[in-house]
Amino acid sequence: MRSEERILVTLHRWTGPPVDTHTYLLTDPATREGWVIDAPYGTAHGVLRHCREHEVRLSMVFLTHGHFDHLLDVSIYVDAGIPIGMSPLDRPLLQLPQTEAYGVPYPMPKFPVSRLFGEGDRLRLGDREWVVWHMPGHAPGHLALIQPDTGLIIGGDLLFRNAYGRIDLPLADAEEMTISLSRLLECPDSWRVLPGHGEETTIGAERSWLGPLVVCQGGVDSSPEPRTKM
Ligand SMILES: [Zn+2]
Ligand SMILES: [Zn+2]
Repeated sequence: MRSEERILVTLHRWTGPPVDTHTYLLTDPATREGWVIDAPYGTAHGVLRHCREHEVRLSMVFLTHGHFDHLLDVSIYVDAGIPIGMSPLDRPLLQLPQTEAYGVPYPMPKFPVSRLFGEGDRLRLGDREWVVWHMPGHAPGHLALIQPDTGLIIGGDLLFRNAYGRIDLPLADAEEMTISLSRLLECPDSWRVLPGHGEETTIGAERSWLGPLVVCQGGVDSSPEPRTKM
């Protein structure tokens, strides 16, 4: 196998209730180091079992943002000794009774955050560098993980297939969301977006509606029929 054909990152996905939230496992095949992105309800035991079976050593759980559907299983990773990372700007969200407001019969988890991330942080998984982008709007501390060489965006609830993240939730901000979405338009069409809900997409596939919305129509607030999801 020629070196440029080497698989650069292995991706696995699991999905948890109540709003079909995805968790992603990114693994470097050479070092067998892995990261978990988000921790929806009912997914952590399956991820940990997979990691044991495939000898993947988890070095962190990266939370894209502080909404309950992305972190109900986080305590299972804490108990397994895996560090949790997120933006400090989403700490206020963790204090809100989100599950109660949504009618979900679980308390908001309390957990230690041992790694704080923000705009421009660079993280290494194997021989690939990932960059953290702060993309507020859906949540004040919403983060995206970018792998520029392979064109991968782990986007959380920023951009979905034919939709963007809700801006009618507590601490959401339409103006910031517009800026974050317009930043995505600067990425090449070929870049893949792995979202927190629904099927993956590319920047090119969403550009036809996203471009006019943020460039000509003045932003997400102006959308007559909001294209939003959890
Ligand atoms: Zn969310
Ligand atoms: Zn979500």
